[in-house]
Amino acid sequence: MPRQPDFASLEYDPITLKSPGEIVYLEYNPAELPPKPAEDWTRFVCISDTHSRTFPVPDGDVLLHSGDLTNTGTVPDFSVTMKWLYSLPHKVKILLFNVSPVFSIIAGNHDLTLHPEWYDTQWPRFHSHHGKQNLKPIMDLLASQESAAHGIVYLKDRSHSFKLKEDGRFWSVYGSPWSPYFGNWAFNYGGDVAEDLISKFPKTDILLTHGPPAGIFDKTMRGDDAGCTALRARLPELRPRIHLFGHIHEGHGAYIHRWDSANDFEPPRVQVDDEIPDDARD
Ligand code: 5GP
Ligand code: MN
Ligand code: MN
Ligand code: MN
Repeated sequence: MPRQPDFASLEYDPITLKSPGEIVYLEYNPAELPPKPAEDWTRFVCISDTHSRTFPVPDGDVLLHSGDLTNTGTVPDFSVTMKWLYSLPHKVKILLFNVSPVFSIIAGNHDLTLHPEWYDTQWPRFHSHHGKQNLKPIMDLLASQESAAHGIVYLKDRSHSFKLKEDGRFWSVYGSPWSPYFGNWAFNYGGDVAEDLISKFPKTDILLTHGPPAGIFDKTMRGDDAGCTALRARLPELRPRIHLFGHIHEGHGAYIHRWDSANDFEPPRVQVDDEIPDDARD
C-alpha cells in the first residue's frame, strides 16, 4: 500500500498573518478541517505530484494541483487521475465569463504526453510496452465539455481568472508546467531558456509552477538544491499571493512570506524528509 501523502499546510493566525517565515507541517484529517475565519473567505486546497495515486482531499473552494498528475502520462494513468479529480466535491458557483474555476491543474515532467513536441521523439524510452499514446483521449479527460462540467481548468503557460460567489472577487492564476532540466523528461528547460520562459510570467494572484524556485523547498534527499534561480529572482517582482509548486517531493511544506519591505527574501531552510517511499520515483 502506498503511503498516503501528507497534508502539509500552514498553522498561523489567518487574519494577522502573525507568523510569516515559519514553516509548519500540519497533518490534517480531511474530515476535520479548521474553520474558515469567515464565510466569505476562500479555501484553496493545494496538492501536487499525485502521480496517479488517489487519496482523500480536504474540501474547499478551489483545488490547485501543480503537476505530475500521472506516472508517465498514459491514457489509463490520466483516466485514474482525472476520474478522481472529477469525483471531488469542491463546490464553486461560476458567475462570470462562463468559466469553471474548481480546479486549476498543470502538467509536470511525468505527464509526458502533454508535451507532444518532446513526446513524438522520446516516447519509445517510456512507452515501448504500452505503445505510443494517443493525445486525443487524454485531452478529452483534461479539456472537454465533461472536464469543464467538473470545473477543470488545464493551464499550460497561460492565465485564467475566475470569480467566486463566496468572496465576490476575481482571482487570477498562471500555470507553467516546466522544471529545470533533469534526465530529459517532459517540460524540462535548460538554463539558457529559463530566463526567457520565466520573463513571460505575468503578475498574478496565484502562481503555479511545477518546479520550485531556488532555495525554497528545493533540497533533494541527496542534498542537491534543485530549484530554478531565474524563477527565484523573478518572485519579488511577481509577488504572488500563493505560489504553489511541487516536483521535489521530499521538500514539501508551506510558509508565509511578507512582500512589504525587502526586495529579495531569505526563506528558511528546511529539514529534508527522507521518508519517501521507494516507489515514489516511479
Ligand atoms: P519526479 O520524477 O516526480 O519529477 O521527481 C521525483 C524526485 O526526483 C524528486 O523528489 C527528487 O528527489 C528527484 N528529482 C527531480 N528533479 C530533480 C533535479 O533536478 N535534481 C535532483 N537532484 N533530483 C531531482
Ligand atoms: Mn513528481
Ligand atoms: Mn516532477
Ligand atoms: Mn520519477
